[in-house]
Amino acid sequence: MSASAPITQDVMTIPRKTPEGGKINLVGLTRDQLRAVLIEHGTKEKQAKMRVGQIWQWIYQWGVRDFHEMTNLAKAYRAELDAKFVIEIPEVVSKQVSTDGTRKYLVRIAGGHEVEVVYIPEDDRGTLCISSQVGCTLTCSFCHTGTQKLVRNLTAGEIVGQVMMARDDLEEWPVPGAPKDETRLLSNIVLMGMGEPLYNFENVRDAMKIAMDPEGISLSRRRITLSTSGVVPEIARTAEEIGCLLAISFHATTDDVRDVLVPINKRWNIEELLGALAAYPKVSNSERITFEYVMLDGVNDTDEDAHRLIDHIKRHNIPAKINLIPFNEWPGAPYKRSSNNRIRAFANIVYQAGYASPIRKTRGDDIMAACGQLKSATERARKSRKQIEAEAGLK
Ligand code: SAH
Ligand code: SF4
Repeated sequence: MSASAPITQDVMTIPRKTPEGGKINLVGLTRDQLRAVLIEHGTKEKQAKMRVGQIWQWIYQWGVRDFHEMTNLAKAYRAELDAKFVIEIPEVVSKQVSTDGTRKYLVRIAGGHEVEVVYIPEDDRGTLCISSQVGCTLTCSFCHTGTQKLVRNLTAGEIVGQVMMARDDLEEWPVPGAPKDETRLLSNIVLMGMGEPLYNFENVRDAMKIAMDPEGISLSRRRITLSTSGVVPEIARTAEEIGCLLAISFHATTDDVRDVLVPINKRWNIEELLGALAAYPKVSNSERITFEYVMLDGVNDTDEDAHRLIDHIKRHNIPAKINLIPFNEWPGAPYKRSSNNRIRAFANIVYQAGYASPIRKTRGDDIMAACGQLKSATERARKSRKQIEAEAGLK
C-alpha cells in the first residue's frame, strides 16, 4: 500500500431539489426519508405510514409519475402533493439497439451529465447494467470509463431511476388488476456500468433497497450483482447492508500486474482483497463470488496466471466462479484481446481445478455497449493515448 496511490473519493452528490419551483423529487428516498419529507410538508403524522405505503406502491409497483393518477388518495391531497413534489427519473437522450437485441441508453441527469445504461436480453433472463457514477475516480488502464475525467456520484434516485427508465422502455409496469407476470423482461440488475459503486455506497445501497422492496420493483437480492474493483473496507458493509451478490474485478494474479491494471491495488493489495472476500459474511455455496478476469493478450493470460488465480482462491477457500471477459477494445486502448485459443486454454485450467469458468459472451459489440466501453458522449476531453500508455506502464 502506498500513501501516494492516486485514489480519491473526491466527488459530490447533488441536492435533491429540482431547479424548477424547488419541488422535491420523491424517487430514491427510503421509506423513512419519504415519511419525514411528507410530514415536513403537511401530511399528518398519524396518516404518514399509510400514505408512504400508498405513494410507494404507486411509484414503484405501478410506475405512476403523476400524483393525479393516485386514485386511492383524496383529490385535495393529490393536488397538495403535486404542488410540492415531483416523481422524476433520468431522461433518455438516445437509445441504440444492437443486432443481438442489446439496448444501450444514454440518459441525462441533473446538471446535464450523461450516463449509459445497457439492457441485455437472454433466453432465461433480462439483465440491466446500470451506472453508479458519471465517469470513475479510478483509472484502470484497460477501462474506457477510467479515461473519463468528469466525475460525479449519482443520487439514489438517479440509480433506481435507471431501472424505472428501462421498465418504461420495456413497457413492463404491471397494469392494475392484470395477472402477475412471472417471466420478467427485466429480471436482473448488475452494477457494472460506469463508476465504482463502493465509492458511492449510501446511494447505491438505498437504490438497491428500493429495487428489492417487495411492495415495489421487488427484485430478489440474488438477482442483483454489485461489481467492485476492490474497495476493501466497503466489502463487508455490502454484505451487511445490501446483501446482494458480489463480483470482483480481479484481472491479475500478481501485485505487480494488478497495480498497473487496477490501480486501487496499490491501496489494498491482492492478499488484503482476498481476506475481505473470504470474510464476506453471506458467502455460501449458493452465493459464490464472481471473479471477473479480463483477458489481455500477453499481460495476464498465461497458464501460470491461471494456476496462480486458482491458488489464490483455494488458499482462501472462497466459493467462486471465474468469469473470463474477452477484452473489449476501444479507440486508443493500450491492450489487445487474448486469442480465442488462449482464452479457452485458460478457461480449461480453471475448469479442471473445479471452478465454473464461463467466457463472457460479448454483447452489443456493434453499438459499443460491452463491458468497459461505456463513456458518455458528452465527455470529449479524453486523456491522450500517450497519457493512458504512461499510466499503464507501457512505452
Ligand atoms: N467499477 C466497477 C464496476 C464497473 S466495470 C468495477 O470495476 O468492477 C464492470 C466490469 O467491466 C469490471 O469487471 C471491469 O473490470 C470490466 N471492464 C472494464 N473495461 C473493460 C474492457 N475494456 N473490456 C472488458 N471488460 C472491461
Ligand atoms: Fe472504474 Fe471499474 Fe473502470 Fe476501474 S474498471 S476505471 S473501477 S469503472
